[in-house]
Amino acid sequence: CESLHKGDVLAASFWELAVGEPFPVSAISGSGTGELLDALLDALPANELEHDVQAERRLLAREGAADAEVDALDLDESALAALATRAQENAHDAEEALDMCVQQRPRVELGSVRLSILGRPNVGKSSLVNALVGREARAVSDVGGTTMDTGDIDITTDGQHFTLVDTAGIRRRARVAKAKGDAALAGGGQGMDPKLEVKAIEAALRALRRCDCVMLVVDAMEGVTEQDRRLAELVSREGRACVLVVNKWDLVPLKDAGTMAQYEKNIKEIFLRQLSWATVVFTSAQSQRARHSRVSKVLAVAAEAVGEHRRRISTATLNMVVRDATAWKSPPAGKAGRKGRIYYATQAATRPPTFVFFVNDAELFPENYKRYMEKQLRQEIGFPGSPIRLLWRSKPKSTRQGQSAGMRE
Ligand code: GDP
Repeated sequence: CESLHKGDVLAASFWELAVGEPFPVSAISGSGTGELLDALLDALPANELEHDVQAERRLLAREGAADAEVDALDLDESALAALATRAQENAHDAEEALDMCVQQRPRVELGSVRLSILGRPNVGKSSLVNALVGREARAVSDVGGTTMDTGDIDITTDGQHFTLVDTAGIRRRARVAKAKGDAALAGGGQGMDPKLEVKAIEAALRALRRCDCVMLVVDAMEGVTEQDRRLAELVSREGRACVLVVNKWDLVPLKDAGTMAQYEKNIKEIFLRQLSWATVVFTSAQSQRARHSRVSKVLAVAAEAVGEHRRRISTATLNMVVRDATAWKSPPAGKAGRKGRIYYATQAATRPPTFVFFVNDAELFPENYKRYMEKQLRQEIGFPGSPIRLLWRSKPKSTRQGQSAGMRE
């Protein structure tokens, strides 16, 4: 029904059916669909809970598998010596493999890529969606006119298929913010109503959990706010690939050749430490000229990030990088002079790439050494646009005594 008031009046009679609250909607004008969407989302907590439970189970299974692998290794002296020899023998092959994987990174077949666009109100998310759909991509639904009205939008560009998830929420929230003239919500987000903020975070989480890659949009003029940092924290925690989109770049005055690089440095180092691995793209979703050159780049960068998120590297390559890293810098000596030793590392999972380090005692590896190892993996192998996870697994206590061999440091 096009008229909200008339819709409410007519819908009242449906209460008599006693099947729950009626929602008057108009498929043509979109009126009432926001309320319907809210009610649907409210009805979904069981699914989300189920999702959490499944995610938890997967994590436990992964950890269980890692522990089982440690047990199976039965790390006695001779097993460790054999591992060390194998690592040495494989060094040459691994070096070639590393060259190949860094220089001629094989194109990963991605299939369909699910993207979500996150960011505070008014940073330009709707404009970006419109630019992506209107200019750079083709709506693929054959059902006339329906693609733009659903929450998800299918687009194909350069032969790659993408689904922009939850775009209805983006448009609706932007309209609500504007209609209310809510300066705090639509502006910098400072002093935002806590209830609205909880809703915004919940919506962000829902979108995050449905996608492969997040486009986190920030406003070039406003820079990064506390709210952006919270969103970054969620992206990092959920382990999604990410592209940092700095929109409204046209508004930044007095740009020169170094402005982008400086902005990127600031945004990563000072503000979004959690997403230092994300690729940054500068866009002007509104300006016709800039749309063509930059907005299409967002999708290409997102596809690359998703490829990295799904990437698997060989155990030989990984162990070569780890061995070199320990040769440059060995783990510091702990209490009583004990030193951490890495026996073996393996990639246990993708999405995001997760590496298990089998070590003598994980407690002997301080946080800064773990960060160093992550940095080395990134430096040597890459993974731009994707988070990576390092899990450190101690050898079972029963076999720790008297251990001396292992990967040479
Ligand atoms: P959303 O709330 O994040 O979806 O933001 P909108 O897409 O609705 O944009 C908010 C405001 O910013 C609108 O007035 C847009 O016209 C404007 N806007 C969006 N992108 C750009 C841009 O790249 N440059 C400029 N100058 N304005 C923009």
